[in-house]
Amino acid sequence: MEIRSTDALIAVDVQNDFCPGGALPVPFGDTIVSKVNSLVIKFETLVFSRDWHPNNHCSFSDTPLFEDMSWPMHCVQDSPGAEFHGDLFVPGDGRVISKGTDPEREAYSAFEGTDLDAWLRERGVERVFVAGLAFDYCVRATAVDAARAGYETWVVEDACAGISEVTMERAREELTAAGVQFCGTSDFT
Ligand SMILES: [Zn+2]
Repeated sequence: MEIRSTDALIAVDVQNDFCPGGALPVPFGDTIVSKVNSLVIKFETLVFSRDWHPNNHCSFSDTPLFEDMSWPMHCVQDSPGAEFHGDLFVPGDGRVISKGTDPEREAYSAFEGTDLDAWLRERGVERVFVAGLAFDYCVRATAVDAARAGYETWVVEDACAGISEVTMERAREELTAAGVQFCGTSDFT
């Protein structure tokens, strides 16, 4: 696959709290960082989304059930857990998109409540490649929204990690139904 000037990479939530040792770890979440970096060095237009919650965010619970989308406190603004993984390469011209910043609103997708769509359009982006954490939640939601917004959308599957096999399978079905396509890091020249 040849990368064009009208392509963008969206690296979703590669943050400490979503990696092993963090508040809401994705199994093997840290193992995808080098894969994401291998993409970062190839793309010109780069977006890095981050979960960026106030400490009273509506998704936080002292007794989180996970299945009902209540979670332990995670990615609190300016906390070490909210920082990008230390090995993630974030070039200075990469655009950082903060989501979930409203205490009353959840945002899995990097498009939700942000100016990402307008920013991509301004740059003439036609095709987006999505990677990061977690495959079954924020990568899924971001890719579905990208497809709905009219971008040709690909998920770079080996540059993602997910929470569980069950939710990942469900996510694959939803992504396919939305017209999202799948590729791997080895597909890029
Ligand atoms: Zn969150």
